[in-house]
Amino acid sequence: MSMKIGCHLSSAGGYLAMAQTAVSIGANVFQFFTRNPRGGAAKPIDPADVAAFRAYAAANGVGPILAHAPYTLNAAGAEARVREFAAHVFVDDLKRLEATPGALYNFHPGSHVGQGVEAGVAHVANLLRHVCAAAPTGGWKTTILLETMAGKGSELGRSFEEIRTLIDAAESQAAKLPNLPTAKPLFGVCLDTCHVWDGGYDIVGDLDGVLDAFDRTVGLARLKAIHLNDSMNARDSHKDRHEKIGKGKIGLDAFRRLVNHPKLRDLPFYLETPCDLQGYRDEIALLKSLREPSA
Ligand code: FE
Ligand code: FE
Ligand code: ZN
Repeated sequence: MSMKIGCHLSSAGGYLAMAQTAVSIGANVFQFFTRNPRGGAAKPIDPADVAAFRAYAAANGVGPILAHAPYTLNAAGAEARVREFAAHVFVDDLKRLEATPGALYNFHPGSHVGQGVEAGVAHVANLLRHVCAAAPTGGWKTTILLETMAGKGSELGRSFEEIRTLIDAAESQAAKLPNLPTAKPLFGVCLDTCHVWDGGYDIVGDLDGVLDAFDRTVGLARLKAIHLNDSMNARDSHKDRHEKIGKGKIGLDAFRRLVNHPKLRDLPFYLETPCDLQGYRDEIALLKSLREPSA
């Protein structure tokens, strides 16, 4: 299977433009914000653009696309108004993503802002139950992913145990809904290399150990996407400052192991490094050059 790699792109020109830009820089996947990252109104879907995109993506082997929720959305917020806004944005995004079946939708679990982990987890589970209840019969055509976080401030989702707790809380509520399939897991995970490193996991010295811990706690079957970012800071810094690939504390050797690891190599990789398009083109070429034939 050829490498699935791409980067975050501006959605200003629509879906077809993003896919064409991706292909022009050597990518076959891409990520985008569903709306202004500060959480403003989303542009309405243009059916002609979506149709052209779907034809182009099929012809060029582009996908899966990864839609990123606004990072200001806080499902665990203390104020009801903040949580209701998160729920509204989440459902509205998933409705628009019905036009592009098979997409991934990634969100930051949120920050408990002093309410404590337990209260924060309960808020997130409530949001996800609401989102599932709003799904058409058979569920959304999009897979919802929780992103692993660096643990900045009161962020939820730093540890694999917390990710597991969030998923369990949400799935135990959503399991009671009549509109969803019971067989498949409802939620997946997007692992961000900068975040797990800043969160304390030694993906440089012990990638196997970290992936074993993930498998025991969350289950590798849930892992659906990788955010590839180097980090400006030391392990366990809880900072979340992305660096260009090979220029930070994670380093190029670790990325060689990441993109070749048998448990990761077939997943889609999305760059969110501080790069312009030319920089992304170079990083994609670099990461492709690190790929070895599968064993
Ligand atoms: Fe993110
Ligand atoms: Fe990320
Ligand atoms: Zn980040």
